[in-house]
Amino acid sequence: MLKNKRNIKAEERWLIYPYRWAHHPLCEKFSDHVYTIKGYKICRGCFNMYLGMLVGMIIIPLLVLYAKFNYLYLFILLWFLFLPTPLSVYLHARRVVKDISRQLLGIGIITTFTTITVALISFFKNKDYWGLVVAIIVFFIYVLSYKILSKERERRNRAICMSCEQYGLPKCEGLESYYERAIGLSALREGDAFGEE
Ligand code: SF4
Repeated sequence: MLKNKRNIKAEERWLIYPYRWAHHPLCEKFSDHVYTIKGYKICRGCFNMYLGMLVGMIIIPLLVLYAKFNYLYLFILLWFLFLPTPLSVYLHARRVVKDISRQLLGIGIITTFTTITVALISFFKNKDYWGLVVAIIVFFIYVLSYKILSKERERRNRAICMSCEQYGLPKCEGLESYYERAIGLSALREGDAFGEE
């Protein structure tokens, strides 16, 4: 029984695999939203953001430990790291500029959590109420900007599809494989795919 469950999970992973990492349809119209690495489509935005996070995990602790950055310095730095993202989105910057802003955003995410941590430590250790205020502000800016930018991204992706000549077709070039995988997945759940015979 357990073996069977493990098998199903492996099949499910296989069914959705290309989309899980691409985060976009695999058609030509979304081709600049993905990198193709060894035949696999990888989400370009996520790739650059995680790259930035890796860099952030190295440099931000160094700034705190060795350059003695307190939460106010981190808070100021955060704006420089974060602002390129909304600017590049709303000013329709070139793709390479968006890539760089995504990398900065990745560093910014690490800076966000570091700022909150350092600010809260200062609050609890020294009764520094500004620390608490900064931690709350940073937290709300993070949540709010995440929601706004996700919505905007979703709106733009939808707009690309809606202006496509294939929009509304039961199977389009970008989602054809997805469509078939979805059918396969549903059949798998109903127990009549990947027959047991
Ligand atoms: S509708 Fe057009 S743009 Fe959207 S996924 Fe399908 S082929 Fe791509």
